[in-house]
Amino acid sequence: MQISGRIEQYRDELITLRRSFHQHPELGFEEHHTAEVVESYLKDLGLTTRRVTKTGVVALLAGSRPGRVLMLRADMDALPINEENDVDYRSRNPGVMHACGHDAHMAMLLIAAKVLSHNKDAFAGTIKFVFQPNEEIAGALRMIEEGVLEHPTVDAVMGIHVWTPVESGKIGITAGPVMGGLDVFKMTIFGKGGHTGVPEDAVDPVIAAANLIQTVQMIQTREISNLKSTIIMFGRISGGTKSNIIPDKVDLEGSIRFLYKGGPDSIEQPTERFRRIAEQVCQTHRCTCRIEIIHENIPLINHSGLTELARQTAAEVFKDRNAVIDNVTMASEDFSEFSQRVPGVFMFLGAGNEKKGTTLPHHNPRFNIDEDVLLNGVAMHVRGALNYLSMNVV
Ligand SMILES: [Zn+2]
Ligand SMILES: [Zn+2]
Repeated sequence: MQISGRIEQYRDELITLRRSFHQHPELGFEEHHTAEVVESYLKDLGLTTRRVTKTGVVALLAGSRPGRVLMLRADMDALPINEENDVDYRSRNPGVMHACGHDAHMAMLLIAAKVLSHNKDAFAGTIKFVFQPNEEIAGALRMIEEGVLEHPTVDAVMGIHVWTPVESGKIGITAGPVMGGLDVFKMTIFGKGGHTGVPEDAVDPVIAAANLIQTVQMIQTREISNLKSTIIMFGRISGGTKSNIIPDKVDLEGSIRFLYKGGPDSIEQPTERFRRIAEQVCQTHRCTCRIEIIHENIPLINHSGLTELARQTAAEVFKDRNAVIDNVTMASEDFSEFSQRVPGVFMFLGAGNEKKGTTLPHHNPRFNIDEDVLLNGVAMHVRGALNYLSMNVV
């Protein structure tokens, strides 16, 4: 109780911080101003900071006794979107916008760092605050390569995403797979250009592309169990110049998402199946193809013990067991890289409020959040850390 009272007093500072980050968005790995703000805030709390990657910031807070190491993570990057919100704290950086809520993540974690730094006697062990760049394009892996999980070695990791598809006043915390794995493909189908009146003299890559788009859809229903969610989507198709010309080639781009332990080790890996079928469909149409696969994110899988701890913490913070719901999405997150290496839990803090107009999807140019939920986000970090560092759950 005492701690939640302390958190409440930072309401204005929390919202001011979030709005200030919102006004100054920066793209992935370019968060120079953002990193400086984060760093100087943490230094003012008396913490020593270090950079991991050029724009990633890490700070350590030691408790009163030695113990385990808990990492709390916030992401820092914005998106290449021109903000359409008419608010006085709208983006001052044209074409760049915090349209995913990472501004709120940083504000919540900074206030949590402040509260925890005033409560060092309340826990044993160390809290590692990690502000991670470039979440939107797999920045976590770069931080891991540069040692973010070492010095000291992290025992567990927690993260929170504000989430407008979940209503304000609720929080989604689920054990097991909660966010999809994501592979991106870019491919070109090569045929032989010609006259649409004489198709037999050409090799048409357009019909090959049409067939390929249809045929790969059977991977989900005929090659992989229907209980293992898989989506294959095409986001871009382009080829040709005019109605009576058969083009030389067609370009296709898309994404493959899967909500189970997939990846190169899995025999059910959808992406290698995609490659096999795509190559054979092209061959059937006398075309050739070039396929590039980019493995962006692995599925995010929540650790069962930490999930239970987080659910108990949420019941305390929200003062209502029913506020804690299940939430699973095919969208992806590079937090999965941390939680693959150490036990982790990732939570979805409901920020959707019809009355405040904050139910638009993430990445929308008019995306916004219900700021009144942010105090509970801070409380989840603070109480989650105190509960973890005083209990023997993992
Ligand atoms: Zn996003
Ligand atoms: Zn995000």
